Amino acid sequence: MKKVIVVLTTKVATFNNYINGEWQESVNKKSFYSVNPANNEDIVGSFQASNEQDVQLAIEAAQKAFPSWSQIAPSKRASILNQAASILEQNVQALAEELTREEGKHVDDAKNEVIRSAQTLRYYAVEGQSFTGETFPNDDSNMKVSTEREPLGVVSVITPWNFPLSIPARKIAPALITGNTVVFKPSSDTPLIALRLVEALDKAGIPKGVINFVTGKASDVGDLLVTHPAVRAVTFTGSTAAGEDIHKKAGFTTRTQMELGGKNPLIVMDDADINLAATLVVNGGFSLTGQACTGTSRVIVLRDVKDEFVQKLVEKTSALKIGHGFEPGVKIGPLANEKQLKNVLKYVEYGKQDGATLEYGGVHLTSGEYQKGFYVKPAIFTNVNPNSRIAKEEIFGPVVAVIEVDTYEEAIAIANDVEYGLSASIVTNNLRIANQFTKDIQAGTVKVNRTTTGNLMNAPFGGLKKSSTSTFRESGRVGLEFFTQLKTVYMGY
Ligand code: NAD
Repeated sequence: MKKVIVVLTTKVATFNNYINGEWQESVNKKSFYSVNPANNEDIVGSFQASNEQDVQLAIEAAQKAFPSWSQIAPSKRASILNQAASILEQNVQALAEELTREEGKHVDDAKNEVIRSAQTLRYYAVEGQSFTGETFPNDDSNMKVSTEREPLGVVSVITPWNFPLSIPARKIAPALITGNTVVFKPSSDTPLIALRLVEALDKAGIPKGVINFVTGKASDVGDLLVTHPAVRAVTFTGSTAAGEDIHKKAGFTTRTQMELGGKNPLIVMDDADINLAATLVVNGGFSLTGQACTGTSRVIVLRDVKDEFVQKLVEKTSALKIGHGFEPGVKIGPLANEKQLKNVLKYVEYGKQDGATLEYGGVHLTSGEYQKGFYVKPAIFTNVNPNSRIAKEEIFGPVVAVIEVDTYEEAIAIANDVEYGLSASIVTNNLRIANQFTKDIQAGTVKVNRTTTGNLMNAPFGGLKKSSTSTFRESGRVGLEFFTQLKTVYMGY
């Protein structure tokens, strides 16, 4: 949670949990603040610091709502998702401003996220209605063999702060359309925009208990969301450490879907368009202030083109305007919270200690317009040892480590020599190398001449190795699979 340093002079709006169709205070009546990361004197709102009693009530409500929600006609479930999408679309500007105020990303990015979230609701409203089983040919002409898809039951949805609306949307929409009921716990850094999604579903007429919303610390509410016997599935996006913990704690009959950290490489080959490569690294490494799970954090560059590449990268990075997400032209906003700021500065120190050259940035901005926010100048390190901490560990901030190599083979070996495997890209005009890369690289998302960031709503998304449990993919049509179980029916006539 963000640290509040100031004495409040104005009244702060209070927001409640949503359990069994009612907006209600937590049982213990404790609360916490969500704070603007661009201005720590700006309190976005006060939220319920819930405990396990609240989670218990939410799970019970979801359990009770499941039998009727799972039987409702899919077209009715779809119309609620469509109606909620319309509510988001009608309020796009106001919601984008709230998202910027709470998370720090630029308001244009925030608008795109609101629109994308509405599109996700609409996408699953359509896809979910045609998601069904198969019929299998067999030798008995008096028998039909087919699979039926059924919802699981109660699903816990646990989400991070970096895409605080679109990640919940891509989990909640497929869960609901397939007939599951949901208990949703958002990040304590971005509870307001998460609440707006639940509010939209409420206004769209979702029956009571079908979606429940509980805010609070992971240490107070996390365990029960994962271990309660009625919870049939946990869909989680966040850090690998938390994902591993949840995956281990979940019961034998509880499905888990964990979308986790990354240490995403971009390889620059010696035939690459160097200007394009530098642009891709700036956009992939520094947009959203480096706080994208698929953000570029390692650039593995062929030695012959390294100097030209680094020169262009520094040139483009130094042109990025750093500032408040409401200012036009700003490309780098604040980090989302104080913990993030400390973590980024810690890794900048690690980089220096481990012998890398800090070519650009990496400093905490504290004067003038920056003094009340968590601002840092994006950092570019060169001469990075592939075994050093900035080359191996997820930083989740605007820090790019440039590693020089002599061959494609060496580049691939280094790219794969981390515990993560979320996203990776190569910049080349050589079709053979590009094709080889798609086979050699250990990543769930593979790009050629594109940023490591960005994924389509209608295509599968997920990581390999410690970036995901690799059980079920999110996003796209396959995103529906996690939320359903198969029954095989042998029907003799
Ligand atoms: P986080 O793991 O600290 O928290 C994520 C959510 O999980 C929060 O709601 C938090 O309260 C909750 N949580 C934390 N520990 C828990 C536990 N033990 N039990 C139950 N709930 C728990 O992550 P964050 O700081 O919010 O987000 C940043 C991380 O998310 C980065 O590692 C990033 O790579 C990852 N991320 C991954 C993806 C992806 O799709 N792979 C997308 C976005 C972010």
